[in-house]
Amino acid sequence: MSDTSPAPPGPSDAPASAALLERARAVTPGGVNSPVRAFRSVGGTPRFMVRGAGAHLTDADGRDYVDLVGSWGPMILGHAHPAVLDAVHDAASRGTSFGTPSENEVALAEEIVARVAPVEQVRLVSSGTEATMSAIRLARGFTGRPLVVKFAGHYHGHVDSLLVAAGSGVATLALPDSAGVPAEMAAETVVLPYNDVAALEAVFAERGDQVACVVTEAAAGNMGAVPPAPGFTEALRRVTAAHGALLVSDEVMTGFRCSRAGWWGHEGLDVAPDLMTFGKVMGGGFPAAAFGGRADVMALLAPDGPVYQAGTLSGNPVATAAGLATLRHCDDAVYTRLGEVAGALGTAASEALTAAGVPHRVQHVSSMFSVFFRDGEVRDYDDARDQDTAAFARFFHAMLDAGVYLPPSAFECWFVSAAHDDAAVERVLAALPA
Ligand SMILES: *Cc1c(COP(=O)(O)O)cnc(C)c1O
Repeated sequence: MSDTSPAPPGPSDAPASAALLERARAVTPGGVNSPVRAFRSVGGTPRFMVRGAGAHLTDADGRDYVDLVGSWGPMILGHAHPAVLDAVHDAASRGTSFGTPSENEVALAEEIVARVAPVEQVRLVSSGTEATMSAIRLARGFTGRPLVVKFAGHYHGHVDSLLVAAGSGVATLALPDSAGVPAEMAAETVVLPYNDVAALEAVFAERGDQVACVVTEAAAGNMGAVPPAPGFTEALRRVTAAHGALLVSDEVMTGFRCSRAGWWGHEGLDVAPDLMTFGKVMGGGFPAAAFGGRADVMALLAPDGPVYQAGTLSGNPVATAAGLATLRHCDDAVYTRLGEVAGALGTAASEALTAAGVPHRVQHVSSMFSVFFRDGEVRDYDDARDQDTAAFARFFHAMLDAGVYLPPSAFECWFVSAAHDDAAVERVLAALPA
């Protein structure tokens, strides 16, 4: 999710947003608090939003959009869902942070454990980054080994040792993706091509006794939607188990979105990871995330064990209330609707692009999907990078002008919500290039 190309001159068709951006730039690098929001890869003026309701966002210039970003995943019920707002008001009116244990934390943990069978114990944190960082520390503490294996194009937050996605090639020693990450730290991370079992087996044959864990997006969503190839997840489980390494499945994006549990439990996948990480949906739009898994591994965490991990706002009463209300409303009807909307939009986008003669490929990870501007299946990061990003930028702006807010990058999934009713779907279909 790095986004460092220079800003093209932006059209000033959003004067209120442009004025806010100028104000923001004076006090915040790039004027944004997370790089992808700056529109650098599509150009133009990032829209400052003032309101969200259901499937819609309204910007500072008063324009209404059908939102297909959903805050990058959390807003599975749509914006300002009444049940979530009630839970938030109720919790906030009783105090916003205690720095002590509270019942909502227990209830949210119980909800996660009940939904995701491999998770026997869970600890709450405040961001997905913190969750994966902590899971990695725990895996290293449990195994007493240094190396982490990750896959090119997988994003696990901006933690130093995981901010490497260096090119493919078997056992490439990773180079940092960001300035400020020491090479020695990046060298503890081995980056492999995704969906390549031979590359995985080769690394384990050579250095398997030094690998603490393999961390993987349960199904990749941060290079666009790229599901694991048949048998890949099973191979991860087999190879890690054979070498005494842990399997860490990052479900920060897929968790509670791809199914009641996540990618795990989706379409009969029955591979139990040792540790899993969650975020996005489980916070209901507030900062709440979690990592959890095998009880014997989790037992190493402080205060019971020697692996330290803590957080002033971990298990915050307002965030846990929002997360709990969200999960409790995510019933079968919600998942059915997400699937219908994603299917309709993916099919319509593909038909429109085919009619316009634009090479493309639509891929789904359950109800997450993305449109790659290239021909042919996308199986890994090299495939994902091989697309016409200029064509995407033109498509993005045509949709934006027509009132549809897509992710401002060709490498991101589109997110739908249960609040995307037929009218919202119709508006997206009408916006597609004729
Ligand atoms: C979003 C994401 C993260 C990071 O979560 P933050 O809350 O942004 O820190 C980690 N892993 C995956 C798979 C994600 O999609």
